[in-house]
Amino acid sequence: MEIDCIFCSIYAGEIPTEFLYRDDKCFVIRDINPVAQIHLLIIPTNHIEYMNDSPDRVNVVVHDLFSAAILVSESEGISESGYRLVINQKEDSGQEIRHLHMHLLGGESLGPIG
Ligand code: AMP
Ligand code: ZN
Repeated sequence: MEIDCIFCSIYAGEIPTEFLYRDDKCFVIRDINPVAQIHLLIIPTNHIEYMNDSPDRVNVVVHDLFSAAILVSESEGISESGYRLVINQKEDSGQEIRHLHMHLLGGESLGPIG
């Protein structure tokens, strides 16, 4: 747990948030500022800041993040209509929160990237 990290605080229960999925490896919440009809954040419980700094740890969590994406795409009813997964890294991507996380977007036609 990293002090002053909003995602670590959410997982620790310090910020009341609805969990769509939660286990000891990762958890899923709704984005507070959605850019699509369905906009979820899939977040590893371990605080990993940037993928490039911790390749070994990322290799372990990527399985958990994608497994959670499959589960919540089904529980949200968009496994057939489709969805987009996005991970922002560092400045050029506009990454706001320095705790690795994957966006899951769907529930509507998303159009081309960019
Ligand atoms: P990124 O730009 O990839 O770092 O994405 C961070 C995302 O976290 C943004 O889409 C924010 O809207 C979202 N966010 C920030 N604070 C919260 C929060 N307390 N609960 C849910 N989502 C949040
Ligand atoms: Zn964190």
